[in-house]
Amino acid sequence: MPLEGLFRPIGIAVSRRGDVVVSDQRGRIVEAAADQATRTLAGSTPGFHDGAASDARFRSPAGLAFAGPGRLIVADAGNALVRLVAEASRLEPWPPASPRVAPRFDADEFRLQPLLWPVEPFEGPHEIAGTLGEARGGEGAERFHAGIDVRVDEGTLVHAVRNGIVASPIATDEFGSLNEWLRIGPVTYVHVRAGRTRRNEAFDPARFVPTYDPAGRLVLMRLKRGARFTTGDVVATVNAFNHVHLNVGWPGEEHNPLAFRLVQFEDTVPPTIAKGGVRLYDEDGRLLARRDRGRIVVSGRVRVVVDAADQVDGNRPQRRLGLYDLGYQVLSKGGSPATGFDTVHHTLHFDRLAADPAAARLVYAAGRRRGVARVLGHDPPGAGRLHVPDLGGRHPRQRRRSQPRRAGDRCLALGACRLMMETWNAKAAKAAKEYIRSWRPLRPLRSIADVRSSAT
Ligand SMILES: [Zn+2]
Repeated sequence: MPLEGLFRPIGIAVSRRGDVVVSDQRGRIVEAAADQATRTLAGSTPGFHDGAASDARFRSPAGLAFAGPGRLIVADAGNALVRLVAEASRLEPWPPASPRVAPRFDADEFRLQPLLWPVEPFEGPHEIAGTLGEARGGEGAERFHAGIDVRVDEGTLVHAVRNGIVASPIATDEFGSLNEWLRIGPVTYVHVRAGRTRRNEAFDPARFVPTYDPAGRLVLMRLKRGARFTTGDVVATVNAFNHVHLNVGWPGEEHNPLAFRLVQFEDTVPPTIAKGGVRLYDEDGRLLARRDRGRIVVSGRVRVVVDAADQVDGNRPQRRLGLYDLGYQVLSKGGSPATGFDTVHHTLHFDRLAADPAAARLVYAAGRRRGVARVLGHDPPGAGRLHVPDLGGRHPRQRRRSQPRRAGDRCLALGACRLMMETWNAKAAKAAKEYIRSWRPLRPLRSIADVRSSAT
């Protein structure tokens, strides 16, 4: 089946007519039609948004089920919502609000309890070797460091920092490499041997599923979806990278773990600017170096580029960590704020990562283009909004049946509930079932414009 371009498929549904729809970890829902053509029905990158086709966003659409012709139910695990992908003509104008049916990442709730360290002693402190927002990756592949690094020796046991349920069908990856990771709820642990000792022996068969090759070698370690972990449970050992990296939040939009009251973490050390570490550029990125009586001459718009690093209490002195907050203020010769600069103008604040990966390039590209405005934009998921992709012209047979049989719909919808039960739990499945039943019978709509306006 030609399903190229999918990134870790996680859900599949087959309609009575044989249409096959597959979802992937990037939040795309792709149809493989009988004529071998594939096309994206909905989704483009992870997130939450209702809208037509690739404008719509899902976060781990782990379960799919057809609910009658032209209607597809999606268990959007990351957003904890039951959602409907439908032809414009088959969507209710005022859909009922979806129940929350899975654990959702709620930063305020997460913050209520202090964050424990992932290694003993849980109350720390341990050495912080990297912070969120540091520039990583080579030119063209710039990215922000998405969490914190805790320096510990290879073989150290890694413990769950929080109670959690494995929600993703793909909760471990990069087996055997230095970048191996595992994910429980909203927390990801990287540079580990998931579910294995330092001698590579599986230690938790109830929750970690090992795969052995014919020679008896361990070649893969999967984490069961739905597995539950309690704070302090051993989940892995640190690999040869000699540190454990901790991410909190959805992949690509992680929150700063230091903002969650990491126990006994102290940072009373101010960041420092390297000697000669302040440079000025004009709008076109040319270095402003001409001086008049020791002062750099500027005119027009100016970009200020600073080479600075931070440090925290108790760390080895050579650490150069990322900054948390950036800003600038213009002062007069006498040191008083210039007009319009009574307070510091903040340009960047690393509370969480940008949803847009291009933001890293904007901030860190080769000493230029440092003005940052788009870094912290993110819309929290809202409940009960349905998706309206334009499926126009692809299903002539469906058009002839103006009203699908509700009994058949109900039956297929219960299939979706079973999917949800596998994905989450019985309570969630019950809520999903009631929600699907509450959808009103389809009725003809006056025009496509009605549907669009009702769904936005
Ligand atoms: Zn790291």
